[in-house]
Amino acid sequence: MELSISRLFLLLLTLITSNSMAQSDDLAEKLFKAHPTYREAALTQRRFKQKDILPLITKRQGNGMYTIEKVGESFEGRTIQMIKVGTGKKKVLLWTQMHGDEPTATMASFDIFNFLEGKNDGFDSFRKELLEKTTLYFVPMLNPDGAERYQRRTVQGIDMNRDAAARQTPEAAILKGLVDKLKPDYGFNLHDQSPRYSAGRSPKVATISFLATSYDYELSINDVRQRSMQLIVGMNKILQKYIPSQVARYADDHEPRGFGDNVQKWGTTLVLIESGGYVGDPEKQFIRKLNFMAILSALGKIADNSLTRENREDYYKIPENGRWVYDLVVRNATVRQSGKSFTADLGINRNEVSYSNATRFFYYSKIEDFGDLHPQYGSQELDAKGYTIEKGKVYPTTYKNVSEISKLNALNLLKEGYTYVRLAADANTRALGLYFTTTPLHILRSGQPVPSGTPGLGNTATFILKKAGKVRYAVINGFVHDLEDFSREKGQGIVE
Ligand SMILES: [Zn+2]
Repeated sequence: MELSISRLFLLLLTLITSNSMAQSDDLAEKLFKAHPTYREAALTQRRFKQKDILPLITKRQGNGMYTIEKVGESFEGRTIQMIKVGTGKKKVLLWTQMHGDEPTATMASFDIFNFLEGKNDGFDSFRKELLEKTTLYFVPMLNPDGAERYQRRTVQGIDMNRDAAARQTPEAAILKGLVDKLKPDYGFNLHDQSPRYSAGRSPKVATISFLATSYDYELSINDVRQRSMQLIVGMNKILQKYIPSQVARYADDHEPRGFGDNVQKWGTTLVLIESGGYVGDPEKQFIRKLNFMAILSALGKIADNSLTRENREDYYKIPENGRWVYDLVVRNATVRQSGKSFTADLGINRNEVSYSNATRFFYYSKIEDFGDLHPQYGSQELDAKGYTIEKGKVYPTTYKNVSEISKLNALNLLKEGYTYVRLAADANTRALGLYFTTTPLHILRSGQPVPSGTPGLGNTATFILKKAGKVRYAVINGFVHDLEDFSREKGQGIVE
C-alpha cells in the first residue's frame, strides 16, 4: 500500500514536471515565432548610440504601464534612465551595455517593451502573470559614453565591470545605488562576448554564454547562486533547440571587482548572459531574437517560480567557453622561406574597424597565428595542402583614385598574381588612413610600403596560393577568392 502511494506520487510529480516543461518549451517556441512582430524597427544594427534609444524611452513617458526615472548621469553628462514595469513582489533589475560595444541585449530590451505592450496575441495570460508577479526595472545602455564611441570602457578609460568595488565611474555608482535601493531578488547582467569562443572543445562558436557568478573564491553555492544556476539550466534547455551545442558558460572564477560577483554577494540572484557569435549573423539580429526569447522565458520562470524545478547540477553539463575559433583557418600551406620549405596553418581573423563616427564598420584582417593549428578551428576552413603560399605582386600601373581601380578586371589581375595596386600621392586619400573597398584587391596608398617577406604572423591577410605555377586562391584582406569560381562581390578589399 505504502509503495503504491509513493509510486502514485512519483507518477504525479513526473506528470506535473513534464507538463510544465512542455509549457515552457511551448512558450519559448511561441516567443521565437512572435519576435518579428515585436522587434523594435528603429534598431537594426549594433552601432547605435544613446540618441537612437532616447526617443524609444521618451515615447513611453505617457504610458501608464511604465514609470521612467532618471537614475543619474554618465561621466559626460548623458542621462541614464530606468524603466519600471509591473507591480509584482519579485523585483528584477536588468541592465545592458555596461560595455559600450555590447548592444545586443539593448536591442532585445526594446523588443521586450513592445511585447509587454501587446495584446490579443495569445500571450495575454503570460503577460498578466508576469506583470502581476514581478516588477521589472530595466536600465538600457548603462554606459552611453562608451556606446557613443562603440568602445568597451567608459570615457574615463575604466572597465566599469571591474569597478564594482572602487566605484570611480559614475555609471558604477549608479548601478550600486540601484542595487542598494531596490534590493532586487534577481539581476540580469547583459553583455556581448567575443564571437570567437567555441562552446567547449568544438568547432562551434558559443552563440550564448552564461555565468552564475561566484560570490567567493571557494565558488560556494548558497540559495541565491543556486537559483541563478537553475535559471541558466532552464534557458539552456530552451536555447538548445535553436542553437544546438552553441551554448556555453564562463569558468566561474571569482572576480572581486566584477558587478556580477558582487551583486550575487549582496544577495541578488545574478545571471550573466553573453551574446557571442553566430556564423552569418554579423549584426547579431538572430542572437537578439534568442535574447528576447530566453530573457522572457526566464522572467516567466521567475514569475511562476518554476525555475526551482531545474536541477542545478545540469549547470555543470553546459560546456565552458573554449578555444578561439578563427574566422578563417588555411591549413597545410607550403611556406618557402630562405630557400627552405615547411608546412604551416594560418589563423586569420577579420577584425572590425569602426568608421563614420563609429556608426559603421569594415573588416581589416590579420594573420593572428601561424604554425600547427590542428587543435583549433576556423568558422571557414581552406585546405591548402599541395599549395604554396606567396606574397602577391604589385601591379605596375599607379592609379589616381580607388574608383579607377574598381574598374579593373580583378580576376585577371589575381590570376596573374597581382594582389596589390598602388594609389598615387594624394593628400586627401592619405588623410583617410585605413579604409576599405568592395573591389577584391589590396590597395596601397602612396608611401605605404609593400609587405616584405613571406606572409606570416602579424601580416595583413593578403596572399596567393599556387600549385604548379598557377594561382588557384587569392586571399585578400582575409577573404578567400577561388579563382576557378570567382565572384567579385565576395568579401572586402582594403586600402592601406
Ligand atoms: Zn561585457
